[in-house]
Amino acid sequence: MNCPRCGLPEELCVCDEMTREGQRIRVRSDKRRYGKVVTLVDGFKDVDVHKIAKELKRRLACGGTSKNDKIELQGDHVRKVKDILTSMGFSEDMIDVL
Ligand SMILES: [Zn+2]
Repeated sequence: MNCPRCGLPEELCVCDEMTREGQRIRVRSDKRRYGKVVTLVDGFKDVDVHKIAKELKRRLACGGTSKNDKIELQGDHVRKVKDILTSMGFSEDMIDVL
C-alpha cells in the first residue's frame, strides 16, 4: 500500500511528519580525520529520523548512522540529500544547505 500523496510505501512515507512547523533541516558536510568526508543532516522535529536515514542510504547507496535527530552519511552528498528530501515531500524552504 503506497501513500496517495507521495507515492512511497507506507513505511517510508513521512507526509504527516514533514509538515511540522518550526522544522529546519540542516545539511552540511564535515571533514573527519584522515580526510574522510561525512554528510550531516539534522534539525528534524518529531519525525522518524531512522526511517529517513534508511531511505537516504538506500538512494545514495552509502553507509551511515542515525542517532537522536541526527543523520550521518559517509561521503559528500549535500546536494543530493536536499534533492532526495525534497522528493520525499519535505519543503525546499525547510532545508538549509550549509
Ligand atoms: Zn506520503
